Amino acid sequence: MIITKTREEIELMRESALVVSKTLGMLASELKPGVTTKALDKIAEEFIRDLGAVPGFLGLYGCPSTLLTSVNEAVVHGLPTDKPLKEGDIVAIDCGAIKNDFYGDHAYTFTIGEVSPEIEKLLTITKESLYKGIAALTIGNRVGDVGYAIQQYTEAEGYGVVRELVGHGLGKKLHEDPEMPNYGRRGRGKKLVEGMVVAIEPMINMGTHRIKQLEDGWTIVTADGKPSAHFEHDVAIVEGKPEILSTFKYIYQALGITSNEEDAFRKEVLTV
Ligand code: MG
Ligand code: MG
Repeated sequence: MIITKTREEIELMRESALVVSKTLGMLASELKPGVTTKALDKIAEEFIRDLGAVPGFLGLYGCPSTLLTSVNEAVVHGLPTDKPLKEGDIVAIDCGAIKNDFYGDHAYTFTIGEVSPEIEKLLTITKESLYKGIAALTIGNRVGDVGYAIQQYTEAEGYGVVRELVGHGLGKKLHEDPEMPNYGRRGRGKKLVEGMVVAIEPMINMGTHRIKQLEDGWTIVTADGKPSAHFEHDVAIVEGKPEILSTFKYIYQALGITSNEEDAFRKEVLTV
């Protein structure tokens, strides 16, 4: 059952989302060769608590950390480690926070120093696909339309769309209905409704869509060992249209990126 939110609840959820947005922005300044994901996890937990919020993943389903940090061929659910990040790595950082009883949950894939043009393209296409999916989150559409938009855009580049892990409804629980797959057929699945809030999160592999789980019981990696990217936003349907509650602007500020997909999307939506 989809639990829709009132406008007031959506504003509270924006606060929860912004805790995560600010945390990811803070981490963007810390990401350098030599830093460990365990060190990042520690500062992220302190940062979230200083904002008057609670880490959303820590302890949930037995999760031992505040962040999930997935390096290179890791798709999602990577546990922070003592292994230093190195030049050319990519790391997807997924973070959750609870504020006002509501969850924020989103993710960004960062580069460590210079990465190859092939990896750069994987990140760009995956991030762009997130906005393609969000654009399809409108009244009149169904869950399958969102997945279709993401799948079409990324498979056109020869990439693999992970099937086993999906986006989800978001609220007082981290995972609510409906499931939001990153693949789908037009006009299929549940109807999108006013006041729903979802996490849309394409997980896109450079090679095969197939995945496997490591023996730590958490980390999901690509079956062929090729890199994978993950971007996630929290999005509400307000007056029939998608409203992004989270933002990557703190990341862009930290990295000095002026031209980006998020600003372009917001402009596009406003002019429609
Ligand atoms: Mg997430
Ligand atoms: Mg999520």
